[in-house]
Amino acid sequence: MKILFSHSRPRKYQEEFLMDVWEAVSSGKHLLAHAPTGIGKTAAVLGPSLTWALENDGTVFFLTPKISQHQIAVNELERIAKRHKVKFRAADIIGRRYACVDPSLEGMDVDEFYEVCNKRRKNESCPYYAWARGFTPSQRKTARLHLEKLLANYGMVTPAHKLVDMCKAFTYEGERRPLCAYEIMTQIARDSQVIIADYFHLLSSGIRESFLIKTKKTLRDSVIIIDEAHNVPERVRNHLSVSITHLLVKRQRRKLSSWVRSTWKSI
Ligand code: SF4
Repeated sequence: MKILFSHSRPRKYQEEFLMDVWEAVSSGKHLLAHAPTGIGKTAAVLGPSLTWALENDGTVFFLTPKISQHQIAVNELERIAKRHKVKFRAADIIGRRYACVDPSLEGMDVDEFYEVCNKRRKNESCPYYAWARGFTPSQRKTARLHLEKLLANYGMVTPAHKLVDMCKAFTYEGERRPLCAYEIMTQIARDSQVIIADYFHLLSSGIRESFLIKTKKTLRDSVIIIDEAHNVPERVRNHLSVSITHLLVKRQRRKLSSWVRSTWKSI
């Protein structure tokens, strides 16, 4: 078995690690590894996992606690593709808030952003969503043409921040049509063998369900790599904690005042 490895030969101890990963992915087992910095963990886990995915029509999820850590995986995949001349596709995915191309939503806090974004998708009023995925059958047809055009310049993987810029600057038949980058990323993920994303895409049950439906992936046919897993307990705790912010109180006060005014008028 030739494992796709990004360098000419593994370092000391890296080979042992690499073989442990291969043994785990090829026999459907879990592997918990603790290794020092500099041993080449990313190369040791991505190579065998990608080898398995390409042979078994599966998917590798590479989950990180921070967006800044996506680039390490992107670099590793580029090295593997170059060294082995192997063809595959990877999707680098960031949350909606970071991938949004609507300038009017910039600077909003998390709750406010998701409230507005959900409303716009629900009442079918986001033009960027319409161009990227489409609300109606005819919009969906046009959105597929947009995706095809964008993919012509995508390559094996395009880092998320670059893809957001491509989506912002997207034009079709001479007309500027910015595309919702999150919707584009999740569509690219459908035909990708590697998906680089944040922990919460799979560890949060609410997000996981819609994320897997959107990307048409199943956990059964996947290898899940949780990078820097010592961060998981804190991230999960934060995710499950309810917090109240100053902005949230201000917004609710505004809503309540407007409700009182309109109710008062109608009496
Ligand atoms: S659907 Fe996309 S572009 Fe529209 S508001 Fe939401 S994240 Fe932004």
